[in-house]
Amino acid sequence: MMGASVRSRSLRRVWRRVPGGNAKTYYGRGKSYVVRCGVCGRGLGGVPRSSDVLRKGVRTSKRPERPFGGVLCPSCLSLALKLVIRGS
Ligand SMILES: [Zn+2]
Repeated sequence: MMGASVRSRSLRRVWRRVPGGNAKTYYGRGKSYVVRCGVCGRGLGGVPRSSDVLRKGVRTSKRPERPFGGVLCPSCLSLALKLVIRGS
């Protein structure tokens, strides 16, 4: 008998063959992924991977509190700021 919490279709279902030969269903959220820099594609730090934080967390816990935080990596931001300030 399925419990009420897994009857909802919001959880991902994965069927696995367990060592005893039976099939078992595992429930969980979808895959988490790394947020990447918009210019070079490097993975960004300071951005949570868990969907719980992204859904429920406050804004300051979701990305670094600086210009382009959560969009550009530190080296691309440094380069961009230099180009803007030097006017080239
Ligand atoms: Zn970058």
